[in-house]
Amino acid sequence: MYEERFDKRKFDELRPMEAETGIIPNANGSARFKIGNTEAYAAVYGPQEVKPKHLEKVDRAIIMCRYDMMPFSVPDRAKPGFDRRDMEISEVITNSLNRAVILEEMPRSMIDVRVYVSQADAGTRCASLTAAAMACADAGLPMRDLVAAVAAGKIGDSICLDLTKEEEDFHEGGATDVPIGFLPSKNEIVLLQLDGKVSREDLKKIIEIGKIGAAKIYELQKAALKRRFSNESQS
Ligand code: ADP
Repeated sequence: MYEERFDKRKFDELRPMEAETGIIPNANGSARFKIGNTEAYAAVYGPQEVKPKHLEKVDRAIIMCRYDMMPFSVPDRAKPGFDRRDMEISEVITNSLNRAVILEEMPRSMIDVRVYVSQADAGTRCASLTAAAMACADAGLPMRDLVAAVAAGKIGDSICLDLTKEEEDFHEGGATDVPIGFLPSKNEIVLLQLDGKVSREDLKKIIEIGKIGAAKIYELQKAALKRRFSNESQS
């Protein structure tokens, strides 16, 4: 049984969030997204020449994404280097961005996306994707929509939104973690993973609660981009 959340949030409540764009002067686009004690920075370079050349596509751009956790992002110091987990997360972020960015408008080019997690308390792939999508928009890339991502799941008997690490590690009754990425205005899912076991009915409820959370994240993303572009037009 999990009747009250460790941090006293409601079951459908997100952790406090912060979002900003245009924070890295040397990148073409950048963003920071923080949700509770999980924080991600994203930098976008390009569209630029494809290197190595043989990866070039004549009819569209390619996205190269790399996710990394800073050594001080977790209590035990994350091991430096690109491990299997980093590789998997880089790939799922790339796949999601491929659905959001209109690649056909930038043939023979490459978009380099770098994501760094400065604090990790679960949900880093979702925070990274949320930041990366904002950074792509900040770089002025043509996009079908932003991606708003959040993990939801089932802790004990309760469907929960935006799990913490403490919740993911909940043992009595088990914990199931479902990272979900949405193109909110298109009502499309571009990321869906599942760690644990869950019934079809519960999965539907998890996706539904995730969608409600993503809608709030989307509003924050849009507000951050609006702030950035209205500041630019004033200066
Ligand atoms: P996500 O961060 O997207 O939830 P995982 O489920 O793989 O992805 O990781 C869950 C959480 O486990 C991370 O957010 C982080 O809090 C913790 N974690 C991941 N890797 C490490 C690590 N190398 N050392 C300590 N904690 C880690």
